[in-house]
Amino acid sequence: MNSKAYYGEFGGQYVSESLMNTLSELDKAFEEAIRDESFIKDYEYYLKEYVGRENPLYFAERLSEKYGTKIYLKREDLNHTGAHKINNVIGQILLAKRMGKTKVIAETGAGQHGVATATGAALFNMKCKVYMGKEDIERQSLNVFRMKMLGAEVVEVTTGSATLKDATNEAIRTWAKEAEDTFYVIGSAVGPYPYPKMVKEFQRVISKEAKRQILEKEGRLPDAVVACCGGGSNSIGMFAEFIDDSEVKLVGVEAAGLGIETGKHASAMALGEPGVLHGMRSYLLQDNDGNVQLAHSISAGLDYPGIGPEHAYLRDTGRVEYVSITDRECMDALMELCKLEGIIPAIESAHALAYVFKMAEKMTKDNIIVMCLSGRGDKDVHTVAAYLEGKDMNK
Ligand SMILES: *Cc1c(COP(=O)(O)O)cnc(C)c1O
Repeated sequence: MNSKAYYGEFGGQYVSESLMNTLSELDKAFEEAIRDESFIKDYEYYLKEYVGRENPLYFAERLSEKYGTKIYLKREDLNHTGAHKINNVIGQILLAKRMGKTKVIAETGAGQHGVATATGAALFNMKCKVYMGKEDIERQSLNVFRMKMLGAEVVEVTTGSATLKDATNEAIRTWAKEAEDTFYVIGSAVGPYPYPKMVKEFQRVISKEAKRQILEKEGRLPDAVVACCGGGSNSIGMFAEFIDDSEVKLVGVEAAGLGIETGKHASAMALGEPGVLHGMRSYLLQDNDGNVQLAHSISAGLDYPGIGPEHAYLRDTGRVEYVSITDRECMDALMELCKLEGIIPAIESAHALAYVFKMAEKMTKDNIIVMCLSGRGDKDVHTVAAYLEGKDMNK
């Protein structure tokens, strides 16, 4: 196996022999594409004209005043389809077209990546199948309907726990059989190499813009950059351009669910046990026998039992600090952003915000925190309503 597929001891290509060639073709096509000006021009064209970039780096005035430090929000929630996922989907589907593929497949848990992929598939005239666990299909009927409206076929997966982990296994199996004309669009910075790198490069636009914007507004780099972590795509995109700036503190926020000590959480790093899942070696939620555990978070988008391999590496090298925030803490932060700034954030993004509030306590009014507001909260209003009435719909 080639060593560039690794981030320290993490990453790699843990797939069946039949997929090794496919991955190496993909790697070659990707490396050529990102060096090709016409590909980059197309990608940037669709980000501007279709996604609506660049989006603002918004100075949250009332929050900053209340918490006594300057808080800036990178507004990925203002993208077409309401989150950062579309940046990556546009990149991957353009690559699929360049490789001559006519079909795309994707896995989805909460349905957000499924909707983004169905959107890109409609835009670029590709056939689209989305694998989704039966449990998730029942829980996320609105997103299932959106995908169908966009022309995608939603394939019900009934194996195992009938959730994201099983849908991913099914998508990988299908890909192994149909790779000739089919491109597998992965939704986060996870999976076998080159996916973690590809997703990082297609999400890098977040920190490219944010860095330029903060230099324009403040004339200096921020003291801290904060983002929430499910599989780790908005965070790796938000960190990418700051990794070499050692004076900028980088913080990734995982979901602590009901509390790490309860075992009902989605913090892949909390235990610090590496394992292999979905073609990669990384930190995973697992029991004492090494079986992958179901994640729990009130936020469906953070409900993934692993984390991208580069994050595992950035944790071990100490460049990024990883922390976690509970369901309750993130819901308090979510309501505060609604009331103080008139912005309804995704529950995922509210995890990052809750940690920003904690950090602000130790900072002064001249410090600057930049955080990635990864998505809007319209999709979450039912969950918020149920939470406020005292029940958690994702249980
Ligand atoms: C999917 C999602 C996430 C989590 O995924 P990452 O790959 O970790 O970014 C975070 N925020 C929103 C709004 C999402 O839709």
